[in-house]
Amino acid sequence: MPAAPRIACIALDRPLDRLFDYSIPEDLTLAPGQRVRVPFGRGSTIGVVVELASTSEVAPGRLRAIQEAPEAEPILGPRLLELLQFGARYYHHPLGEALLGALPPALRHGDPLPALTPETLWRMTPAGSQALADGDARGRRQQAVLRTLAHPNTTPHASPALDRATLAAATGLQLAPRELRAFAERGWLEATTPDPKQPPPPNTSDHTLTAEQRAAVDALTPDTGVPLLLEGVTGSGKTEVYLQMAERVLARGRQVLFLIPEIALTPQLSARIQQRFPGQVALLHSGLSEGERLRAWESARQGQRRIVVGTRSALFTPLPDLGLIIVDEEHDSAFKQQDGFRYNARDLAIKRGQLEQVAVVLGSATPTLETLHAATTGRYAHARLATRPDGSQPPAVEAIDTRVHTPDEGLTAPLLDAMQQTLAAGHQCFLLLNRRGFARVLACDACGWVAECPDCDARLTIHAHNPRAVCHLCGHQEPRPQRCPQCGEALAQRGLGTQRLEQALARHYPTTPLIRLDRDSIRHKGALEEALDRIRQLDAAIVVGTQMLAKGHDFPQVGLVGVIDVDQGLFSVDLRATENTLQLIVQAAGRAGRGSGGGRVLLQTGHPDHPLIRGLNAADYPAMVAPLLEERAAAEMPPHGHLALVRVEAGDAETTRRHAERVATHLRNAAAEGLRVLGPAPAPRHRVNRRFREQILLQSTQRGPLHRALTRARHAWQTDDLPRGTRIAIDIDPVSLA
Ligand code: ADP
Ligand code: ZN
Ligand code: ZN
Repeated sequence: MPAAPRIACIALDRPLDRLFDYSIPEDLTLAPGQRVRVPFGRGSTIGVVVELASTSEVAPGRLRAIQEAPEAEPILGPRLLELLQFGARYYHHPLGEALLGALPPALRHGDPLPALTPETLWRMTPAGSQALADGDARGRRQQAVLRTLAHPNTTPHASPALDRATLAAATGLQLAPRELRAFAERGWLEATTPDPKQPPPPNTSDHTLTAEQRAAVDALTPDTGVPLLLEGVTGSGKTEVYLQMAERVLARGRQVLFLIPEIALTPQLSARIQQRFPGQVALLHSGLSEGERLRAWESARQGQRRIVVGTRSALFTPLPDLGLIIVDEEHDSAFKQQDGFRYNARDLAIKRGQLEQVAVVLGSATPTLETLHAATTGRYAHARLATRPDGSQPPAVEAIDTRVHTPDEGLTAPLLDAMQQTLAAGHQCFLLLNRRGFARVLACDACGWVAECPDCDARLTIHAHNPRAVCHLCGHQEPRPQRCPQCGEALAQRGLGTQRLEQALARHYPTTPLIRLDRDSIRHKGALEEALDRIRQLDAAIVVGTQMLAKGHDFPQVGLVGVIDVDQGLFSVDLRATENTLQLIVQAAGRAGRGSGGGRVLLQTGHPDHPLIRGLNAADYPAMVAPLLEERAAAEMPPHGHLALVRVEAGDAETTRRHAERVATHLRNAAAEGLRVLGPAPAPRHRVNRRFREQILLQSTQRGPLHRALTRARHAWQTDDLPRGTRIAIDIDPVSLA
C-alpha cells in the first residue's frame, strides 16, 4: 500500500519558479487550495497548498512542518487553482506570486476569514410616503432617502427595496446604519433581511427589450464554455442585455461575474447593476480598504452575494455557483496587467469559462481584432446590436483638413462654426484631445532646444497653476527655465494640452459652461461624479477631455463631438496604436446624437483622404477594420500570429545592452522552426527614471514554439549571473510594443 500523502507542496509569495515541500503534522488534514502558515527562513509566511505527495526530494530530516491551517476547508476551489496554474505557466510567471496575489491582501497577511452579517434591505412604508407628500420629512437627507425609495424617476432604476450601500450610492450620502434605523423607528422605512438562498426578485427594468436585444439575450448558451461576442454599436443598450442575461442566470440559482475596465470612470454602471439587484452585488476594485475587500470577496465565496462587479483582479474571486462571466468593453487595455503577473483578465476569463463550463460574454462596440476574428471564424458565438433603441444613429464622421484650415490653439474655423451652431441649438459640444504628449512643452525657437527630463527620454510638460515643469513618466519636477541653456534666447511654450485648449475655449465662448475631464481634473474624490452630474443637468455646454470622455457615458444632450488631433495615433509605428485610435474615435463619436435629433462628429486631420480616415464611415465596425486585419495577416501579427516581448532593464545603458544580447542568444538557441526572435533593440522609451530598457520581440504563427523557447531560455538565463538591479520581464500577448 502506498504511503499516505503526508507532504504538502505549497505555493509561497516568492519570485521563484517552484513549490515548497513541507510535512503535514499528524493532527492536520489538508486539501489543495487550503491556506497554511509555514516556517520560512527565520520567520513564517502564508502559503497555499497546491498538491499533496507521499515523497519529497528534500531529505526527510530537513523537511519542515506546517505550523497551522487558518481554515479547515480550501479557500480556492480546484477549477480556480487550475486557472491560476494555467495563468502562471502561460504568462511565464512564478506560480506562488500569481496564486498569493489572487487572494485579498488581508488573507495573504494571515488575517482570519471574516464572519459575515446578513444584508438588510430598506423599503419605504406608506407612512414614509405620506411623510414625503405632507412635507413632514423636511431634512435634506430624509428627503433624499425617501425620494430615492419612492420615485423610480429620481434615479434611472430606483427600486422598492435597496441595501444601504446602494442607497448611499444613489443619494450621494454617507449613510450610517444608525440613521436608517432611526428612519425605521419613525415608521418611514422597514427593514427586511432576505435569505441568501432565496434572493429577492430583481427590480424591474424600465425597458422592454428590442428584437435585437432579445435575440442577443437568447444567443447566450450557458454551460458550454463557448464565448459570445456581443458587438453593439455605441448606445445600442448592451448594458440592458447584460442585466437580462444576469437575471436569467441568477434565476437558475447561479452567480455572475461582471468584469469592467475601471470602476471609478464609469460610476453609473456599477450603480445601475446594484439598483437592479439590491443587496446581491459585491463590488471589488482598487479603491477598497483591505477589510472591505476581504468582506466583499468572502461574501462572494460563500455565495451570500450573487454578483461580483469588479476590475481585472476580480476575475480570481471564488464563486461556488458561477454561471456567467461578462467582460464589458473587452477591448479596453485596462484588462491587461502591466507589471508583475502580466495577465489579461479578458483572456483568462475565457479560460475560466472553459474550465468551469460557463458562458463568457465579451461586449464592445469596438472589439479587438483578436476577438472579432475569433467571432467571424466561428470560434466564438457572435451577437450584434446594429441599432439604438431610441432609433438615433451614431453620426457620420466628417474630416476637417488642417492643411486648408490652420488650427489656432488646436481649433479650426469650421469646428468653431459648428460648435457655435450646436450651442445655439441648446446642445453640448464634446472635444477630445487625447495624448498627454500634446501638453505644452518649453522650446527654443532659435536653436531647437526642448526642455527634457534629466532621468527619462521624455519632454517636460507645463500645466496651468503649476509653476514647475513636470515629467509625466517619472514625476520629476523642476522650476521652469526662462532662457534657453544652449543659446540664451527666451523660451516659448509649444504644443497643446487639455488645459490650454480649455483656456482658448473660454476666450471664444466666455459665457458657456466649460467642463474639463482628465486625470488632473478628477483627482479629488467625487470630482468625476460631480462633473458627470453637471453635464447631465446642463443644456448647452462644452466638455473638453482626454479619452476619459469617450468611456461608456450616456448623455442625451451631445450634439457635436470634435476630435482635435488624431494623426499621431493613426500613423504610429506601434502595432496597436492605429487600432486603439480607431476605437477611440468610434467610442467618442458614439457620445453624439443620442436622444436629441442627430449629431455631428468632426475630425481635424492633415490626411483627410487616408484610407483609414475614409474608412471611418464604413457600414459597421468589422468593415472599418477589415483593412487592418488584412495588414495583420500579411505581417503575421495578432490575430494571425502571436507575440511576446522580453524586456531587459538595468541601471546603465551598457549593462542593459549586454544582458539583452545574452537573453536574445538564449532565445535564439532555444528557438525552433517558425519562431522569429527580433532584437534586442532599445525600447521606444529607452531611458525611464534613470533606468535603461532594451526589448526582444518574439513572433510566431503558432503558440507552441514561442512558449517552448521561452521556457527553455528562462532556465538558461536564470543560471546567468545577473548584476544587481538587472530585471528581465516577459510580456505575453503585449497590448503595446512601447
Ligand atoms: P451601450 O452600453 O450599448 O452604449 P447603454 O446600455 O448605455 O448602451 O444604453 C443606451 C441608452 O439606451 C440608455 O439610455 C438605456 O437606458 C437605453 N436603452 C437600453 N435598452 C433600451 C430599450 N430596450 N428601450 C429603450 N431604451 C433602452
Ligand atoms: Zn536656444
Ligand atoms: Zn522623467
